[in-house]
Amino acid sequence: MSAVATDRLIRPHGGSLVDRTGAAPDDLSGLEVVTLTSRELSDLDMLASGALSPLEGFMAADDYESVVEDMRLSSGLAWALPVCLAVDAAPQGDRVALADGSGRTVAVLEVEGVFDYDKEREAERCFRTTDAQHPGVERLYAQKGRYLAGRVTVFERAQPPFPELALDPADTRAAFSDRGWKRVVGFQTRNPIHRAHEYLTKTALETVDGLLIHPLVGDTKSDDVPAVTRVECYRVLVDGYYPADRVLVSAFPAAMRYAGPREAIWHAICRKNYGCSHFIVGRDHAGVGSYYGTYDAQLIFDEFEPHELDIEPMFFEHSFWCRVCGSMASAKTCPHGGDDHVFLSGTKVREMLGRGELPPVEFSRPEVAQVLIEAYRA
Ligand SMILES: [Zn+2]
Repeated sequence: MSAVATDRLIRPHGGSLVDRTGAAPDDLSGLEVVTLTSRELSDLDMLASGALSPLEGFMAADDYESVVEDMRLSSGLAWALPVCLAVDAAPQGDRVALADGSGRTVAVLEVEGVFDYDKEREAERCFRTTDAQHPGVERLYAQKGRYLAGRVTVFERAQPPFPELALDPADTRAAFSDRGWKRVVGFQTRNPIHRAHEYLTKTALETVDGLLIHPLVGDTKSDDVPAVTRVECYRVLVDGYYPADRVLVSAFPAAMRYAGPREAIWHAICRKNYGCSHFIVGRDHAGVGSYYGTYDAQLIFDEFEPHELDIEPMFFEHSFWCRVCGSMASAKTCPHGGDDHVFLSGTKVREMLGRGELPPVEFSRPEVAQVLIEAYRA
């Protein structure tokens, strides 16, 4: 890889890719240990890799306040969601050790400060609801009451659930450059890809050089399709229906926050760090239940000047197979009525798969449906 080649790609958010990996200090024994939740661990790993550039650690009070109130860091740079580490009390000393759930020390944090925060205000501003039934708000309400800020150095990276798909931003950027791509569209998903998603990713790909299918493999709700099943679905779909030199499948290590519109912005900024110049935003991106309007995750991009994000969002409608058009289409491109469209509700599809029935080919590729049928049987 040459530096000249990667210069063709979009620049990371804030200008340069952060690398917070490093060697472990000689002696950790005297340090207080803070144990991270799985969500905090995925944030830590993304801080290490530069996926959260320009952040170098967990947010200090000024950045937190500015992000919650104004969706910008205190520097003015766009940023949509807090990246914070919750603790009970201020630690002793100017450095602490960060440990995973098994007690393994994985990083050190240089203590910049500890501050109080208002959970209800964070919920209202970031999730647009204070309802404890919302899975992101539920997680927020359950966490510890103060935030610990500071720069991190990570010396034990998280074990990726899919090592062959674990590419850091520097790796995806190198892969894009090797393929000669300049304009790359990123696709966030936490679901199997059915024909509707295949249609919009291919429609986007028609206008750029390459496609990054970037499934989220961090924590999700327990009723989402398990990551191992989804990854197998991506494999059979890409092998069968996408040209190998135009698509890259890699895992996005973030945990879902279910913050809908703000998370769409956050997801876009992260993908910019991975080297994507474009980002697909469908209906109800990162939403859950009926907390967000269908297009809220698209409308929120209007709250930023284009240069603030730099990465360009590509908005899509719900799409379907139209029997009269004889193709995939959406309300934007098809004048026919619902009777001419092949549409199945998620519930209906799950029922069919549970009975071992393949949904119509206009809805789902049979190879993908077969993987799901086997997963439902297991
Ligand atoms: Zn039609």
